[in-house]
Amino acid sequence: MLAFTSQRLITPTETIENPVLLVEEGRILDLAPRRARAVPAGLVAFDFSDGILAPGYVDLHIHGGAGFDVMSDAAEALPSVEQLLARHGVTSYYPTTVTAPMEATLRALGRLADAIEEREHQPAPEAARACPAGIHLEGPFLSHARRGVHPPEHLLKPTSAAFERFWDAARGRIRMLTIAPELEGAMEVIAEASRRGVCVSLGHTDADLRTSERGIEAGARHATHTFNAMRPLNHRDPGILGAVLTDARVSADIIADGVHLDPAIVRLFAHAKGAQQTVLITDATAATGMPDGTYRLGSLEVEVRDGRCTSDGKLAGSLLTMDRAIRNLAQFASWTLEQAVAAASLNPARIGGLSDKGALKAGADADFVVLNAAGEVKRTFVGGVEAGVGR
Ligand SMILES: [Zn+2]
Repeated sequence: MLAFTSQRLITPTETIENPVLLVEEGRILDLAPRRARAVPAGLVAFDFSDGILAPGYVDLHIHGGAGFDVMSDAAEALPSVEQLLARHGVTSYYPTTVTAPMEATLRALGRLADAIEEREHQPAPEAARACPAGIHLEGPFLSHARRGVHPPEHLLKPTSAAFERFWDAARGRIRMLTIAPELEGAMEVIAEASRRGVCVSLGHTDADLRTSERGIEAGARHATHTFNAMRPLNHRDPGILGAVLTDARVSADIIADGVHLDPAIVRLFAHAKGAQQTVLITDATAATGMPDGTYRLGSLEVEVRDGRCTSDGKLAGSLLTMDRAIRNLAQFASWTLEQAVAAASLNPARIGGLSDKGALKAGADADFVVLNAAGEVKRTFVGGVEAGVGR
């Protein structure tokens, strides 16, 4: 058994001062204030006396990092991405595809399913880097008008047959689907995917208000990088944002890097969606954690300069890390650290269907971070094993 003590612990819905967190075989056995729970003798103790224990972060939208794209066939690609993620506090993530030729997407889905299954069967000590917990299929069912940098020649009309091919290649590991509801055939795919337990997210869309509402009625429950690659809000033609910002059933994510959205829009979004339906994503690319230069995003080439990742002058994913996103949200929206942490842990885990992740509670996976008072990640533990240390 392992015992972790610190100055404070964020569950994140509750705060415990002077806590002790007990971990056994990769899971949380118990957590309590130190005065209420005697620490059993003879166990390995970690004391982070001036630190804050918080749940490990869950990022539902990751294209890459550390020079690698998650669609790459290089053996070192995912481990390199996962080490970088863990350094920034992310313990679970959804590797996210971009629109690519059908065959390339099918092969990438197969490789990502292999990686997910491998980690499921691996003993805890090897798991000291972020864990791929499901796949986010971002293309190809996206709007031409709002495609961003997704290559137009590979965008597809949504059909059950195409979805089935992706599903089979991923062996059912697709947990999130970004789709534009206005496309012909979209409602059927939304209904079918949500019937299979996929979190269907509206994004890369030019949908009007009524079509967006129909997408939600068909089963969509989330919105992808809200405001970006979306029909803008107009007071006489509210479009999809009129639905996403006001429908309490719908959660939504944002890229809070200060580049994709003005801080005032982050504040507006936080007011509209509140502490439970706000989700932080990074949309990180291979260039994250790397110097300026040229990198891959799926089959695209992207250029990184001055904190922006672009292709043909359009924003192409981000260089954001989750620890920074949390501090930005807290600052831009005047939220507490607890609220901002929830937007990167409890909320994405709930929306992504990861019931053992995103919160510190008895029985949950022992995925957690140690923060300093400024909210910076000092240590990351995955299944009770320190990332970057491992076996
Ligand atoms: Zn996107």
